Amino acid sequence: MRVLYATSECYPLVKTGGLADVSAALPPALNAAGADVRLLLPGYPAVLNGLSNLHEVGDLITDLPGCDRARLLLGRTPDGVLAYALDAPSLYNRPGNPYLGPDGQDWPDNAQRFAALAWAAAGFAAHASYDPWWRPDILHGHDWQAALIPAYLALRPDRFSGPTRPGTVLTIHNIAYQGNVGPWMLGELGLPSSSFRVDGVEYYGKVGFLKAGCYYADRLTTVSPTYAHEIQTAEHGTGLQGLLASRSAVLSGILNGVDYDIWDPSRDPHIAARYSPDDLGGKDSCKADLQSAFGLERRPDAPLAAVVSRLTWHKGLDLVLDAAPQWVAWGGQLVVLGSGDPASEAGFRQLAQTHPQSVGVRIGYDEPLSHRIQAGCDLFLVPSRSEPCGLTQMYALKYGSLPLVRRTGGLADSIIDANPAAANDGSATGFQFVGASVQELLWSLRRALTLYRKPDRWQATQRHAMTRDFGWSGPAEEYMELYRGLVP
Ligand code: ADP
Repeated sequence: MRVLYATSECYPLVKTGGLADVSAALPPALNAAGADVRLLLPGYPAVLNGLSNLHEVGDLITDLPGCDRARLLLGRTPDGVLAYALDAPSLYNRPGNPYLGPDGQDWPDNAQRFAALAWAAAGFAAHASYDPWWRPDILHGHDWQAALIPAYLALRPDRFSGPTRPGTVLTIHNIAYQGNVGPWMLGELGLPSSSFRVDGVEYYGKVGFLKAGCYYADRLTTVSPTYAHEIQTAEHGTGLQGLLASRSAVLSGILNGVDYDIWDPSRDPHIAARYSPDDLGGKDSCKADLQSAFGLERRPDAPLAAVVSRLTWHKGLDLVLDAAPQWVAWGGQLVVLGSGDPASEAGFRQLAQTHPQSVGVRIGYDEPLSHRIQAGCDLFLVPSRSEPCGLTQMYALKYGSLPLVRRTGGLADSIIDANPAAANDGSATGFQFVGASVQELLWSLRRALTLYRKPDRWQATQRHAMTRDFGWSGPAEEYMELYRGLVP
């Protein structure tokens, strides 16, 4: 099973969110399950510098949208996965964030930049494939940046038909990002003007990349079963719910996994002391380390809650901001690592100034610190308004930091609430609340506090949480099953 895995992010080369983690971990898991997966990445500087043994394959590509010359290079990721880099300097030779310019705004040519990625992926299906030695059975695109792949195969048979047609899969990691551009772009994107209709790429008067992918892909997946259901509703579908509901027979949710080579407190090099479900002792040292890193009072008995997140509205952190004074009044502490909305950043900075002994805030992106937080906190907060899968709550489980989450998307699928029944039968792994309100968040914090004050039961819940398996082998098998259904 040869799979071309087209993605705009891959950890540790380039990362803005969970997509990068998935792109790093799922391909090796698929290869372990018997697939032959190769990545296709935009040739950002970090990608060209980060891949080893890079060499040119195939002929020059001379008809990319938005760029008339590009080379296809093949190398290996730090995880050992073969990866093609689309070396198109005029599109990708820009350091830093893959989507934003120095002014913090989207690059004005993002549509061309990512149409080119999809075009290059579709090129693997053509008679004159870019790499004649390796022809994929499946083209698997991720998010709007790669969503035009199935549209190109369907709409440009003149350019992309080959000896066999690969199956196409589109995975939606976050439906909020859709890639919509004006209809005058059609020609430049290599799309025929006849495709600008409801049964095509048109989306509320624009060309919709994600819409087009949802319309043309053979199979649609998203990153949790609950989110697969939610995106067919008006509340979460952001306009695509009707189309997705009409395609529900080919839409499925496969929960993301966690890379336990990176996220495991028994061998994490970033944390103050190693620990495991059999020996939780080291977690106390990690908590003391975290309290001192954030200048908090060194109180072993203070319940320490934490957030590691992008600070955007849909992450629901305004609820944490509003609940924090009460949490502190109950004796709790809070650490926050994140960046994003300026108002949210300012709100958390102010909170830390008001409660310097109890609240610590670090604005920025800091991977090692995120490990120390996972290890050092007692409670990990993910109050998202929507959350396709969410990874941090699954890391928290492994680190014995009980997740407190809003019941949505993958949060609903991965955390078992410590309601009386689950607490009694030992199945609980964290806490859930339903309504996106401060009252409901505080109510669940109160429940967490009650359990925290019963150390035996708290530790039993921690141990149970730490032994849940959210590794990649199960999800990889589900993707393999999906691929098999597309190959004759
Ligand atoms: P999303 O993809 O919506 O941002 P996920 O929970 O799926 O949310 O993935 C977020 C990833 O980014 C996790 O690996 C998390 O640890 C990491 N992360 C988010 N913000 C920060 C930060 N400020 N510093 C370090 N890591 C962060």
